[in-house]
Amino acid sequence: LGVRVVQLQPGYVRSEASAVVSAVTGGRGLPAARRRPQAERGPGGRPWVVQNVETFGCIGLLVRHGLDWYQQVGTADEPGTRLLTVTGAVHRPGVVELPVGAPLRAALRAAGGATRPLQALLVGGYAGRWLAPEHLDVPLTVDGIRAVGGTLGAGLVVALPDTACGLATTARVVRYLASQSARQCGPCTNGLPAVAGAVEELAAGRPSPGVLDRLSRWCGLVTGRGACSHPDGAVALVRSALETFADDVQQHLAGDCGRSGLDVGVPA
Ligand code: SF4
Repeated sequence: LGVRVVQLQPGYVRSEASAVVSAVTGGRGLPAARRRPQAERGPGGRPWVVQNVETFGCIGLLVRHGLDWYQQVGTADEPGTRLLTVTGAVHRPGVVELPVGAPLRAALRAAGGATRPLQALLVGGYAGRWLAPEHLDVPLTVDGIRAVGGTLGAGLVVALPDTACGLATTARVVRYLASQSARQCGPCTNGLPAVAGAVEELAAGRPSPGVLDRLSRWCGLVTGRGACSHPDGAVALVRSALETFADDVQQHLAGDCGRSGLDVGVPA
């Protein structure tokens, strides 16, 4: 089996499956202009298998130790373990490995526990969802997180302390996501910066009249209109912020809350 290592250009959407296949086959390394699973048909008209390193690691363990060993941890539907990057208000930020099905609070415990009372957790990644602390006992399975409106996505868990502003944190992330559009589809190229601007207005406590209505309308116009799911993820994050931080939204309509956004590692 030959192995060739290909270094991708930096960029958020360059890790999207069709972008990866494009890069390794000499293309531009951007998402395909049409949504179609690479496992069905990719460059050359052939199906392509695209997996992340964690999955290949699991396959290696499965082959080496066998199915019975692999199924000793995890759930019946999702055996094995999962890697999570836990950051924010925890004592030991970093990558932790947990049995699939462990509760969300186990991720915080594995990272040394929370340093402050938490007001929310960003679960899944920059295109993930904000979840309230009442969901700390939800199992870390695809279905478990989905049942509370979340996604495991890239496996990022950000603990938002009570001292940080969830809307300002969201504004930073959405502005970054808007900057990472591959600029191939109008709703993504033009829509995400507009959405980011509206979230920033709200976060700054200086909203123009009708900002929530515009935000809602733009989110609806952008969803499902890109060639890849990049805009969908950004919009889902915004919607979860408006829901999770509903009280803060009302406060910000009247002015700044006095708290700053949390640094969640968004590239400058
Ligand atoms: S939706 Fe955005 S990121 Fe995805 S292909 Fe279109 S322009 Fe690029």
